[in-house]
Amino acid sequence: MPNKEIPYKIYLEESEMPKAWYNVRADMVNKPAPLLNPETRHPMTLEEMSEIFCEELAKQELDDTTAYIPIPQEILDFYKMYRPAPLVRAYCLEKKLGTPAKIYYKFEGNNTSGSHKLNSAIAQAYYAKQQGLKGVTTETGAGQWGTALSMACAYLGLDCKVFMVKCSYEQKPFRREVMRTYGASVTPSPSMETEVGRKINAEFPGTTGSLGCAISEAVEAASKDPGYRYVLGSVMNQVLLHQSIIGLETKAALDKYDIKADIIIGCAGGGSNLGGLISPFVGEKLRGEADYRIIAVEPASCPSLTRGSYVYDFCDTGKVCPLQKMYTLGSGFIPSSSHAGGLRYHGMSSVVSQLYDDGLMEAVSVEQTSVFAAATEFAKVEGILPAPESSHAIRVAIDEALKCKETGEEKTIVFGLTGTGYFDMYAYQRFNDGAMGDYVPTDEEIAASLSKTPKVSE
Ligand SMILES: *Cc1c(COP(=O)(O)O)cnc(C)c1O
Repeated sequence: MPNKEIPYKIYLEESEMPKAWYNVRADMVNKPAPLLNPETRHPMTLEEMSEIFCEELAKQELDDTTAYIPIPQEILDFYKMYRPAPLVRAYCLEKKLGTPAKIYYKFEGNNTSGSHKLNSAIAQAYYAKQQGLKGVTTETGAGQWGTALSMACAYLGLDCKVFMVKCSYEQKPFRREVMRTYGASVTPSPSMETEVGRKINAEFPGTTGSLGCAISEAVEAASKDPGYRYVLGSVMNQVLLHQSIIGLETKAALDKYDIKADIIIGCAGGGSNLGGLISPFVGEKLRGEADYRIIAVEPASCPSLTRGSYVYDFCDTGKVCPLQKMYTLGSGFIPSSSHAGGLRYHGMSSVVSQLYDDGLMEAVSVEQTSVFAAATEFAKVEGILPAPESSHAIRVAIDEALKCKETGEEKTIVFGLTGTGYFDMYAYQRFNDGAMGDYVPTDEEIAASLSKTPKVSE
């Protein structure tokens, strides 16, 4: 193939944009384990799922066989507002590192929510609207998901009720105001509005909340009103499916210029952005068409893949959600107050968990001061102030590029830059002041938390 000149930023033409999401489960030999009803411990049926989620989303959740699911036109139209996301060659970073490696990043921060989360928010809001619902409830930790969902709901004229982890609600007033600007109602969690919130408040007075607890509140709020359903920003199969748009665009952009990636890197919170980025590449791996090194990066403070167990666990603190088999630290695990709020989840997508367990990908954990050092290095030369979550991937991309410098290998590294860090300046401030620490949980802490996972006979 003649070498076309590779632009600094690769954008797809509108006609080259993906028209269907890719469901990697269809190509997986070992499918992710089914979700279980928390009471009966039997696999969740479509009917049970539809009490929590919109019916179409419940179907997507349970569909392990359809490889391509067409993206409805209205969602394609919405995507046009901020997609395609560019695939950027990090020439300046390469030069600064003096590496022979070629580094590319897929930038998902080009929208108000500042992250990839809008890709699934619009899909979930769309199906809720199609079903004739009045609105949706959700949780948000650091605020990115709540912001994305409030944008999608505003666009479609749906009501949006967000339970926001109390410490973020207080620490990130501007995030809260963006959501309110888009018309969402934002409640600090644990609140006194739900039974589970009142219970948690009574049990742990003064608690500043957690994601698992906000999930329980949002699920309860939706279950009490037939016009509402619950939606979730990561972890679930349906979210990973919608996020496959990231990987499909990335692959189309690489293919357009005959570029072959050697290493693909993504940060892993609940696993949806990583799963979405890697899906088409893993698909090729599974079908024996190509090989890639795939690396998930997680915070050392919340290391579900690298130090957790692959067992059935609760997805939320209140234990109202289905049980999921995943790499987990235990649903009672409260990670130390890391500044990458979007990565502070005790579990992991069941798809990513299964791929990891099958040896189709690797995982590493990194400490937050080294993550912020990488973020700063990147910001200085690439013109984007990255989100702390995304900077986990930057850290490992830089490390891999430096290894190439030693060996002289010209590897092609692709990483997901999931978002921008403009609402994370408190974290940057701590780093700049030299006041940021690295907390790594002990084996005893993790073992104690894991001892409380439910006993499920498989
Ligand atoms: C939420 C978030 C993440 C974590 O995404 P998962 O799909 O849950 O792993 C990463 N980066 C940013 C910027 C986020 O907002």
